Amino acid sequence: MNVHDSERLSGLLEDAGYVRASRDVDPDLLVFNTCAVRENADNRLYGTLGHLRPAKQHNPDMQIAVGGCLAQKDRGEIVRRAPWVDVVFGTHNLGSLPTLLERARHNREAEVEILESLETFPSTLPARRESTYSGWVSISVGCNNTCTFCIVPSLRGKEKDRRPGEVLSEVQALVSEGVLEVTLLGQNVNAYGVEFGDRYAFGKLLRSCGEIEGLERVRFTSPHPRDFTDDVIEAMAETPNVCPQLHMPLQSGSDRILKSMRRSYRSERYLNILSKVREAMPDAAITTDIIVGFPGETEEDFQATLDVVRRARFSSAFTFQYSRREGTPAAEMDGQPPKEVVQERYERLVALQNEISWELNTELVGRDVELLVAEGEGRKNAETRRMSGRARDGRLVHFTPVGDLVEGEVRPGDIVHTTVTRAAPHHLIADGEILAHRRTVAGDHWERGQRPKTSGVGLGLPSFGAPATESTSEQGCAC
Ligand code: SF4
Repeated sequence: MNVHDSERLSGLLEDAGYVRASRDVDPDLLVFNTCAVRENADNRLYGTLGHLRPAKQHNPDMQIAVGGCLAQKDRGEIVRRAPWVDVVFGTHNLGSLPTLLERARHNREAEVEILESLETFPSTLPARRESTYSGWVSISVGCNNTCTFCIVPSLRGKEKDRRPGEVLSEVQALVSEGVLEVTLLGQNVNAYGVEFGDRYAFGKLLRSCGEIEGLERVRFTSPHPRDFTDDVIEAMAETPNVCPQLHMPLQSGSDRILKSMRRSYRSERYLNILSKVREAMPDAAITTDIIVGFPGETEEDFQATLDVVRRARFSSAFTFQYSRREGTPAAEMDGQPPKEVVQERYERLVALQNEISWELNTELVGRDVELLVAEGEGRKNAETRRMSGRARDGRLVHFTPVGDLVEGEVRPGDIVHTTVTRAAPHHLIADGEILAHRRTVAGDHWERGQRPKTSGVGLGLPSFGAPATESTSEQGCAC
């Protein structure tokens, strides 16, 4: 969500006349869009701001802006600790950034503006999209849950839902520019509709996405097990362009810890949802988030997590060591296991999950896969002459573009079919011939360096921004 907000910030700034700096020039403006989910983000932000002090002294006209969740949390503290920062803006007023920069420049003093509730839904702002083939579309922001470890509700506020018509218009606008894949975004997508009184709204939205001509892949993140209803599973299974993939946070396999986390489902309910998903979509890849070392977690609780992991057979998991966030109820709880105990449990969990991921990936060797060719997903691609893509179930596949293809014919944004030849815990390899290659409009746009630039969802027609240059601004999650 933060990375998508950064696309909005880029779009806004371009509309205000700013142009991206290339790597070889000193920028006039640096914008940090921060994350506050983990404590490490604080340290990294203040450390980075400290490094910028000499540059600011050297060029007092260079502006530094800090926005996002950490700004919403720390507010005026940021300019107290780093008085060379020019603008601080929060999660509810992204749209104010150009005005705040102008005011700070004019008044020659820092502007700190934090709002308590959403000023404008971020999707009404223009966006400079980073990808030609895949786009994020927010369906809601904020969250009505109160998980005791989570700082999101206090920084992003209560859930606000967009109207289905607006969401679908944005999806359509992206597709008309060649985008093949959309990911519907919300802190809790299954609760979508709570604001306008339709508890089946999310399933209906998935089905409506299925009617959009040219939209090949629909994904979403993240659902909450509490609100996961059967109609969503049916909609997923019956809508051909909805991908067979589900990312559903587990957090803990211990019912006692789930209760203490104020996660209102229990492990059996969670596993029951997975069974239904697999019954409806046998090839679905299911991924999750798990926290280790929550206050009060005993070895027995941790064993319960390992047990659920064994039974759930996730294709992969994002595993985290509990990070205390001031301002959350869990930060006041006693009984956090010692660091070395958490580390040891964490390593056991990662080892188990890697084993399962590898087993599941190995079962796919020999299977034909359809890949949406991706950009920047394979660190070793230059050495190995491979390219990378995502299968329909979200798995990362590194493939060799061999067969009846001329050099450079396959581009990010194109579709290829190939056969999996090898498995590793976190990716698959396909070194055989390409069985089929389809050139796409997204691939043409990638080749020309054009990125879709959607205007705010007032439904204006999207247009294309200038060819991409390397950005020198930091963006996204700082964890
Ligand atoms: S559902 Fe997700 S965003 Fe909402 S409070 Fe829980 S962890 Fe945070």
